[in-house]
Amino acid sequence: MSPSTRKPLVYIISAPSGSGKSTLVTKLLKLVDDLDFSISYTTRAPRGREQNGKQYYFVAHDEFEQMIRADEFLEHADVFGNYYGTARRFLREAEEKGHDLLLDIDVQGAKQIKQRLPDAVSIFVLPPDRKTLERRLRERGEDAEDVIQRRLVTASREIENYDKYDYILVNDRLEESIESLQAIVSSERLRSASRPLSDEEKRIMDLAGRCRLSSIRERVLPIVASFALPHSTSSEKASRSSPPCSRLPAKLASLLQRWWALCLRWTSLRRTP
Ligand code: ADP
Ligand code: 5GP
Repeated sequence: MSPSTRKPLVYIISAPSGSGKSTLVTKLLKLVDDLDFSISYTTRAPRGREQNGKQYYFVAHDEFEQMIRADEFLEHADVFGNYYGTARRFLREAEEKGHDLLLDIDVQGAKQIKQRLPDAVSIFVLPPDRKTLERRLRERGEDAEDVIQRRLVTASREIENYDKYDYILVNDRLEESIESLQAIVSSERLRSASRPLSDEEKRIMDLAGRCRLSSIRERVLPIVASFALPHSTSSEKASRSSPPCSRLPAKLASLLQRWWALCLRWTSLRRTP
């Protein structure tokens, strides 16, 4: 099918901060042709070397609200107290060029896009476990300790939404993760190809299939559980016990994990000044 005769495929990618999403997206965009990145609008201030129009369009609160009233957003959400939004024009422009579109948005935005564009392909990036996420956040060296702790608490909440996504990418070894992400993008393109697939294309389909929620659920449960365990001081750790999720049926384990995460969040929030 010629690119100009089809609707753009929309890929949504979400992840807790520090999972490696930006690293993966940057590499993916270099490897895959005809894939545009949707530059979001935000009311938060630029950080470090961020430039207007590159990572984000940085706009004032009033301007963002004016854009909401003018129905310029495909989705928008309040994330950490700031507005973030995906402009409709990126989808229009991708369609005109015959390109696909990649959205780096949070779980609230992903939900809105899925409601509006049910064919959008959603990918949730997970770290191998909580300890690794904490180490990556520290080694990135961008955040103060209190910010790292807040990101970890937020991560526990965001991770609860993993099962609303089509694909789960556990970002353990970077090169393998990039290969899998590229396979997901390619396999979704191949699905619409009405011709027999080559052996290489079948391998790509298989690789992507391994990241399908239904295939990877078992691997994900211990990761989710690692975020539900207590991670405070060692004396606090010793005084608590983790929920025996691994021995329970999946549904009950999931409920127990949610309850446990809520308890921990409540405890952490009480500790945060
Ligand atoms: P995010 O965009 O999700 O906040 P980043 O892409 O900034 O995360 O990655 C967080 C840190 O982890 C960075 O220092 C990055 O170099 C590192 N990182 C990303 N993926 C991996 C990986 N698979 N293995 C080891 N380190 C990684
Ligand atoms: P940061 O400020 O750290 O760049 O991003 C914070 C969060 O906002 C991340 O989870 C990121 O995916 C999300 N985000 C970025 N752009 C958008 C957007 O346009 N819409 C929504 N809903 N979330 C966004």
